[in-house]
Amino acid sequence: MTDTIALIGNPNCGKSTLFNTITNSYQKTGNWTGVTTAPKISKYKYDKSVSIVDLPGIYSFDVKSDDEKSVLTFIKNTPPKAIINIVDGTNLQRNLYLTLELINFNIPVVIAVNMVDQLESNKMSFDKKYLEDWLGVPVVPISALKNKNIDKLMEIALVNKKRLKGQNFALYNGKTLAEQRYLLIESKIDNVIKKKITKQELITQKIDRVIMHKFFALPIFFCVLTLIYYLSISVGGKLGYYIENAFSNMQTCIKLTLLNGKASKVSIGLVCSIIDGLGTVFSLLPQILILYALLAVLELSGYASRIAFILHSVFNQFGLSGKSLVPMLVSCGCTVAGLSATRTIESKDQRRMSIFLTPFMPCGAKMAVFGHFAHTVFNGNALVASSMYLVSILAVAVFGKILKNFKCFSQNGSCFILEMPLLKVPSIKDVYYVLIEKIKDFIIKVGLIVVALSIILWFLKSFGVSGYVGQDIEKSFVFFLGNKIKYIFYPLGFGSWQTAIAVICGLFAKEGIVETLELVALDNNALFNNQFCAYGFMVFVLLSPPCLASLITAKRELGSNKWFMFMLAFQFTCAYVLALIINLLSIIINYKFGLILIGIIAIIILLKVMLTKSINLNK
Ligand code: GDP
Repeated sequence: MTDTIALIGNPNCGKSTLFNTITNSYQKTGNWTGVTTAPKISKYKYDKSVSIVDLPGIYSFDVKSDDEKSVLTFIKNTPPKAIINIVDGTNLQRNLYLTLELINFNIPVVIAVNMVDQLESNKMSFDKKYLEDWLGVPVVPISALKNKNIDKLMEIALVNKKRLKGQNFALYNGKTLAEQRYLLIESKIDNVIKKKITKQELITQKIDRVIMHKFFALPIFFCVLTLIYYLSISVGGKLGYYIENAFSNMQTCIKLTLLNGKASKVSIGLVCSIIDGLGTVFSLLPQILILYALLAVLELSGYASRIAFILHSVFNQFGLSGKSLVPMLVSCGCTVAGLSATRTIESKDQRRMSIFLTPFMPCGAKMAVFGHFAHTVFNGNALVASSMYLVSILAVAVFGKILKNFKCFSQNGSCFILEMPLLKVPSIKDVYYVLIEKIKDFIIKVGLIVVALSIILWFLKSFGVSGYVGQDIEKSFVFFLGNKIKYIFYPLGFGSWQTAIAVICGLFAKEGIVETLELVALDNNALFNNQFCAYGFMVFVLLSPPCLASLITAKRELGSNKWFMFMLAFQFTCAYVLALIINLLSIIINYKFGLILIGIIAIIILLKVMLTKSINLNK
């Protein structure tokens, strides 16, 4: 008969590394959560009658996600001979929560305190004896990576017969079991782990005091974002101008060559239109690259995790699950990735709600549109672009709260654990890798969607019911179509046929909005009643249904046509309502009659309140 030893621990504590070492196999390891997603079984390298099972990383059994369920089912249905509870020695406080749960299963447990090499370099040490006396199970300090003490660990795991009946929490009566466990760990941890504060930690603590400040954290974050957009718009905008000029010169050369070669007007128009489209989108590349490089610095330095922590408490106040935050943060890069990340949310209601709200985040493509608008309509004002983050957070909070009132979204989310890394200066190599990925994505997108969009737009612009119309755009299909749709946007203050077409093209790819406006409009400023309405247009682009790839992903994740249609209607309504409010505000501010209107409404409300009060008094 084979004996089974199960490896159980938090995500990222080194299970896969230990598994590979003791079974001589190769499993992917990584420095992020969720590398092990399904149980993996292999034989112990020194004794083939022993099977080692690597289970998915979990934080506790309190939360019922697929991973927790699969670990629980495994332990209950096929109890192993022993459990090796692998804990990250550099993060014992968090890891021991699961340990307290595991020792209640009445299965022998050995605690493998991993990463002792890291502990040493962090100038930390732990009291093995204290931990053993407290928990009543053997403790072995190991380094899975450096193959230290692994044989000893296995030896103890194979002979260990100690079973525990669990911890006594009588000390903390009146608290939930989870709270009692946390309190117990907190009361013991200082005796277990001895630590000299490193220089990096000291600096992190000092900086954290400022950037995590109760009141200043969000304003600081907003200033950082504005600086990032300022650099992206000013430097990127200038470089983009050169790229656009280069494409324009290239277009002239190719046009001349084609004219000399007696090519037809139609084919010249098509080629020029594609070069124009490519020029417009490539001119956005420097902006996007600077933006992504700086955002990558935020992420790699550990600042982004702090923002997540701050936003988590903001979102919590609006009844949103902390887990819906991760997809939203991912979505700031790309909505498709953000929507896929909603799978980690186990509550169905919360998951659906996240799918509805995640596309409100300003993805890279939307930010390129906002950067372009800030550059062309708002004289390079970076605040205009960075304020889109605030609008999206506000929209998620307010519209999320509204959704919560529907019965189908009322279920609450589960607990959520956020890792807080030390602050560090990111390496150029890491930033470079992030950028390379972005450039690849961008080129594929440009190759597939923008060229296709250029061809479609060229066709709609150059042909009409009477056939080829050349430069006479007013006889073209695009003019006809735009004029049919534009009325929808009248109340929003951007009811021109050009903006209507741009919104439709934006459904394919958000970059398509800039491309379309460049192709069909001479001056962006002329398209809006005033700058408020241009801002309203940006808000509309931010909140309206996302690009085609995201819509396909959302439909797949929702798994039903009914929910998908509801999502489309919801996002369109939110975008429309907010853009309408902005336009109304612009009317109020621009025209005095607005003030008179407010006065009349205020008087009516006042009269009504007074009337009801007097009726109540008369009763
Ligand atoms: P899992 O998610 O629990 O399976 O964790 P992995 O085995 O994928 O390890 C997570 C990260 O920790 C990887 O980058 C490993 O190289 C690293 N790691 C694992 N064990 C050790 C160790 O003993 N010392 C150090 N310094 N790093 C380790």
